[in-house]
Amino acid sequence: MTEFFTAPGRFFRGNLHTHSNRSDGVLDAAEVCRRYKAEGYDFIALTDHFIGLYGYPITDTKPFRSDDFTTILGAELHSGAMENGELWHILAVGLPEDFTPPDAPHFLPVEDQESGAELARRARDAGAFVAIAHPEWSGLTMEDARTIDAAHAVETYNHGCAMGCDRPHGFHTLDLLLSEGRKLNLVATDDAHFSEPNHFGGWVMVKAPHNTPEALLTALKDGNYYSSQGPELRDITLSDKEIRVKSSAVASVIVQGHGSAAEARHGESLTDATIKLDRFARSPWLRVSVMDRAGRRAWSNPIWR
Ligand SMILES: [Zn+2]
Ligand SMILES: [Zn+2]
Repeated sequence: MTEFFTAPGRFFRGNLHTHSNRSDGVLDAAEVCRRYKAEGYDFIALTDHFIGLYGYPITDTKPFRSDDFTTILGAELHSGAMENGELWHILAVGLPEDFTPPDAPHFLPVEDQESGAELARRARDAGAFVAIAHPEWSGLTMEDARTIDAAHAVETYNHGCAMGCDRPHGFHTLDLLLSEGRKLNLVATDDAHFSEPNHFGGWVMVKAPHNTPEALLTALKDGNYYSSQGPELRDITLSDKEIRVKSSAVASVIVQGHGSAAEARHGESLTDATIKLDRFARSPWLRVSVMDRAGRRAWSNPIWR
């Protein structure tokens, strides 16, 4: 589950959640791609809102691929109401260009449209990596979350939601689902619209043999990646009694598990930390967070024992 850190290939930095002026973003697709490439990203997925108002866009970013930058086609999907009556937001990275639209004319739910769960299932079946978008921003309930059986991941950090409404997280939703036995990973994303400072704040580092859409998508589905706001995770190894975390220099290394189980190690310029797992005896899963002196984090995917 953490073997990918030392497997062949290299890490590619990407943002999985981005908007252009094909929906409600400010910039055209070429400029969005140019900026991400200029900022040192290896790839992005442009994920415009897939609703009738915008002509159900799966924005074509293929022209902006180059030797050292690639794109994965995708969209943010919408259909069906959550418990609070608002429309579902589901991130789908790796959609075919002819993906059949739901009946989702605008940002409000309408009668008899596909449920969020059904749409997520269709996206996964069509080849996409699927994530439950911004649970905290959405006001997602656990009942809502449980319905989505086709997700690969929960979006646990959304930089746009951090900057726009200070509701960036999905960790609470993820951790409760993990404790119900759901095998879900996590993603940090930008949800960049370039309308606010909502870009370059959260990304994934994907370990793959090549920087191609196919290789990246396979690695995402296999969980061969971690999420970050800055720090690098370099290796995680686990025994029955302890977990060892190698990273770029950080100030804290924290392990989380079922219920209130957590253990933190603090220090100066930590790059190799070992944490005992005595407090995790009842936890079938663990996660690792590291935090640098500026408060920026990196997060592992859940590790099952
Ligand atoms: Zn959204
Ligand atoms: Zn979005």
